[in-house]
Parts: sequence; C-alpha cells; structure tokens
Amino acid sequence: MNNQQFDCGCDEAHPQPLLSTDKALEILMESAKPIDDTVFVELDDALNSVLASDIHSNINVPSFDNSAMDGYAINLDDNQVNVSGESSFIITDRISAGTTGKTLLPGCAARIFTGAPIPKGANTVIMQEECDLIDDDTKIQIYRPITLNENIRPCGNDIQVDDVILRSGIKLKPQDVALAASVGVNELEVNNNIKVGVFFTGDELVEPGNALNDGQIYNSNRYSLVALLNNLGCIVINLGNVKDTLESTCEALKKLMHDCDIIMTTGGVSVGEEDHIKAAVQSLGKLTLWRIKMKPGKPLAFGKVGSAAFIGLPGNPVSAMVTFLLFAQPFIKRMQGLTDCLNHTTKVESNFNWHRSKPRREFLRVRIDNSSTPAKANMYPKQGSDVLSSIVWADGLLEIPEDTTFVSGELLNFYSFKEMMP
Ligand code: AMP
Ligand code: MG
Repeated sequence: MNNQQFDCGCDEAHPQPLLSTDKALEILMESAKPIDDTVFVELDDALNSVLASDIHSNINVPSFDNSAMDGYAINLDDNQVNVSGESSFIITDRISAGTTGKTLLPGCAARIFTGAPIPKGANTVIMQEECDLIDDDTKIQIYRPITLNENIRPCGNDIQVDDVILRSGIKLKPQDVALAASVGVNELEVNNNIKVGVFFTGDELVEPGNALNDGQIYNSNRYSLVALLNNLGCIVINLGNVKDTLESTCEALKKLMHDCDIIMTTGGVSVGEEDHIKAAVQSLGKLTLWRIKMKPGKPLAFGKVGSAAFIGLPGNPVSAMVTFLLFAQPFIKRMQGLTDCLNHTTKVESNFNWHRSKPRREFLRVRIDNSSTPAKANMYPKQGSDVLSSIVWADGLLEIPEDTTFVSGELLNFYSFKEMMP
C-alpha cells in the first residue's frame, strides 16, 4: 500500500476546474508517488514486474577468453606460419565447452569447440571449415594468412565486474531476466503490485449473459477497465455494478478505501442528479471534478479516499478508455515505480481536412496507412464517445491540438494502441 500524500488539485474557489489536457496530466503525475513496498522474486516469477533496485555484476561475462567457433586454437607467433600464408600444426589437444585444455606448445593446435576456454599459449582460432585434416588426421593445414584473435570472445566482452546491468524502474522483459541470470543473480527485488479497487455506477447496466430490458445496456466499461488494469499488472478488486445512490456508492468506497492503492470507477462523474461519485468521495475524502478541455472524455474526477487515490472515469465507453490511457495509465505506471511512464507519440500525416477550429483538444480514433512515408491517418467516420467499435477499428489516437485548422497532410501526434495496450 502506498501511504504517501498527494494533492488532488482541490480548490474551494474552483469546485469544477476547467483544465487543459496537459495541466490535468501534470497534476496527476505530480501526485503519483512510487510505491515503496518491495519483494524478492525468483527469475521465473520476475517477468513484467518493476525492478526496485539496480543490478550490478560481480563477474566478468564471459569470465574467460573462449572460442566463438568450432575449430582449432593455435599460436599466431608460432613460426609454423610461412610467408605464402600456408601453415600446418600437429593436433595435440581436444577442448570441449566446460573443460580446460593444456598449455599449447609451439607447432601445435588444439581442437576446440564453441564456448570452450582458449588454452594458454594460443591466441587465435581458425574455424574448422578453413582447416584441412592431413597426415591421417593428426595435423591441420591452413591455406590463408592468419590474424591475431580470430574467433576469440575475450573475457569481459559482454559485461565487466561492477557494471550496472539493469536499472531500477524498468518493467522486466525476458531479455532482462536473461541478463540477470548471465551474471549469476537468481532473484530480483521488485515493487509489489498496485492494488486497484473498481466499481461501476449506472442503474442501466446489465452484465453480459443476461437479457436486456427496456432502457438497459451492457456494462462494457467493467471489461475494458479490468482488462486495462490486468494489462498493467495491477491486482484488481472488482465490486461490479453499484446502484446509483449515495449510500451504495459510499458503501462501495468504504469496502475499498483501506485496502487499495487506487480506487477507480466509471460513470456518475457529471453533475446530474444520478451522479453520486462526487458527493460520496467528498463525504469520505476529497475530490475535484475536472472538466478537461478534450474530446472524448471531458469529465474526470480525481481525489483521495482513505489512503487510496481516487480516479473517476467518465461513463461513455470510448471516453472511459481514452481517459484511462491518457491519464490513469501514466499515473498508475508512476505509482508502480516505472521510470518510463508517459505515453510516447510518433508523427503521422492527417489524410483529411480539419476546417472547424475548436477550443478543446481532440483525440480521434484513426487507422494508419503505412504504404507511404510519413504514414497517413484515416479517421473512423463515427467519432462519438459511445461508439466503442471505433476503438476496435483504430490503430490509435490522433491528437488534434486546440484552436487549429488544417488541410490534409498536417503532421500530428499519434498515440499507438500497440504501445498503450501491448
Ligand atoms: P454517466 O457518466 O454515468 O452519465 O454515463 C454516461 C454514458 O455512459 C451513459 O450513456 C451511460 O449509460 C454510459 N455508461 C455508463 N457506465 C457504463 C458502463 N459501465 N458500460 C457502458 N456504458 C456505460
Ligand atoms: Mg450514470
């Protein structure tokens, strides 16, 4: 559990601040304090966890000079090498990986295999394809000039003693775990998973698998939110649908507030009579309802209940996902202790005109056409915040700045779903 304090931007004079997208993200990121609760895990259990401390190497890797090829180890300074470049050596040893050979004497060669230590007295390895066996396989003949250190992987070539091989704050990938193993580390200190409690407001919501009565809809946010949180490696405590009353909302918050690092909800963050999130959170903690100058997803609630941060996402399914990806996800990543928590963008070209300037930032669902450079963004024809198909169709979000018009070919920021929802 993260017990650090944070500022939710509450201000008596501005109960519903109108914020730019950048300002909202800035407040959130300043408020998110990395968790300081760590655990040691074995390498097999470390994948996707956030590394809590730098990993140093106590050894050189490789820790001895070794052969990069199956071949023959010889000594270049040996006077067997003649001017024409031809040379021959008597085979006196056989060194396989995991064994060590004898000191190589002048005029001799050691049969050597990949990964085996270079014997004393040798300083180059000729690959077997370049050697002819002669005199009943007792000698090798080489027909080309030889150079020093051919096919030798020197001690410390990859890693040297005291090198920092992994930095804290990374999300451990298969290659990271392998690198730790390569220096003999068998367990890693990682941050504990963040616990996120969720519930969903709306009397119209029905769980999939049941029939819909008039006026009812299926609860899709429950599935996007839980999946998004699982994707981030959070432990999710899901209370499901909660009735649109102040009492039920307070009850749900009370169940989660002492146990969770974050509580998240969808819906009920407007200021209608059926929207109880604000009053409920304020009665138990503190909360600001933000109106963010963006589309989709204007309303967002941010606050604190007990020791848990509170993020109330809008109810419309597209708004809920977009605000999660743009605001909640970087916030959660920072709490998880990740160094790289902000979204990354690339530049793509609009394949459409934008004639009406708007005072808010828009995030259009677009599909990317990579057949030309720069890639072109085509927008889904229906951009309503209720049109969930638009997100399934799209490759990501195209950011249209505030107060802008342009014609086709404008370079704009693109947020890839592949990166945001790997
Ligand atoms: P609200 O913010 O509660 O006024 O909800 C805004 C819109 O989102 C309404 O049309 C709701 O029916 C819809 N909505 C709210 N919660 C969900 C949900 N969990 N799944 C799908 N749609 C929802
Ligand atoms: Mg509602």
